[in-house]
Amino acid sequence: MSYGKIHISVCRTDILLEINFKTMAKYILNRNKQDSPNGENYEVHNEENCVRLPLQDNRINLGYFYNCKDAMTAAISKFSKSKSDIDGCFWCCNFCHKE
Ligand SMILES: [Zn+2]
Repeated sequence: MSYGKIHISVCRTDILLEINFKTMAKYILNRNKQDSPNGENYEVHNEENCVRLPLQDNRINLGYFYNCKDAMTAAISKFSKSKSDIDGCFWCCNFCHKE
């Protein structure tokens, strides 16, 4: 009886992990600053769906996030950048794109 219960809970965990994996995306930060009307800034990209990704050598791995906002927060704290130095990519993180 108890074995059956254990088995069911393991299966549910597997399903949850699969859903989390599918909804999270890998984000990267461009090592080089990009021009913008209000000065240069580092852009955050979704590596899985962006059509304007920087070259492989210029990508800094930020990790997996549910949205560009979380990825930008991580980039700011991880690299001690000021908020105005980080911007979302126009193409893949338009929701976070400021300038
Ligand atoms: Zn992008």
